[in-house]
Amino acid sequence: MVLIYKMTKVLKAITNIIWLCLPYVFLKSWNKLKNSRKFKLYLNLRGKKYQCNICKRTFNSFNDTILQPSELTTWSGKYFTIGIGHTLCDYCSSTSRLRTIYAYFDKLNLWPKSKDKVLHFAPEAPLYKRIISSEVSEYIKADLYDDWGINDIKKINIMDIPYPENYFDIVICNHVLEHIPDLKKGIAEIHRVIKKGGFAILMAPMSMVLENHFQDAGINTDDTRTAYYGQNDHVILLSKKQYLQDLQNQGFQLDLKYAKDTFESGEYEYFGLEPKEFLVKVIK
Ligand SMILES: [Zn+2]
Repeated sequence: MVLIYKMTKVLKAITNIIWLCLPYVFLKSWNKLKNSRKFKLYLNLRGKKYQCNICKRTFNSFNDTILQPSELTTWSGKYFTIGIGHTLCDYCSSTSRLRTIYAYFDKLNLWPKSKDKVLHFAPEAPLYKRIISSEVSEYIKADLYDDWGINDIKKINIMDIPYPENYFDIVICNHVLEHIPDLKKGIAEIHRVIKKGGFAILMAPMSMVLENHFQDAGINTDDTRTAYYGQNDHVILLSKKQYLQDLQNQGFQLDLKYAKDTFESGEYEYFGLEPKEFLVKVIK
């Protein structure tokens, strides 16, 4: 009897300890759960604060884990470069620069028409899927590298485009020109192949304050290119002033579109578009 009594007391003591520990175990598990990426994503994707204008899903915040180094610590940031760094949609992985150009196409109804011939460099999936749905007359998806996993991508050097003059109605070149060694040659080639009256979208990151483009042969490592040009595979930091001048010198007419003239109040923020980036649309 004494033994049973003692065992009961021990069991009671163990039970009490377990009860006392439960809140701690619960709290620890809860902390682990609420800090887990999957749970954060689950909660985020139930929010309504923002919407991706491409996949139309809503959530509490865009994913900013691939933002470039702090604006203030980089050369390009110091010179108020727009179009550097971006946020992602957690559903469709579209970047803010892609959502930006897509939103301008929607708002201004720039999507190619069925008779158009389109040349698209570094073709982003949401854009080319939308363009294909327009059943355009001809659609060339081009890149210097043909390893995009897209069957019909053509390996084309933007500085030597293998098409005749006045061939395309629309050329799309979203964040490509800052990667090529000879910017003027690239612009000249785009101008050559586009028809009179056709237009090109030539987005690129650029400094809003530099008088001239910045390029230095000594900047030749991933770290220095990131620091000075804003990304490890950029080869130039464009000056907005000189870039727009280059485009006009080549014979393009500027038809720039700004957020304040294109989007409703709050819409630009709601879609998480690229801050301060405007649409570089030029007409031949
Ligand atoms: Zn999306």
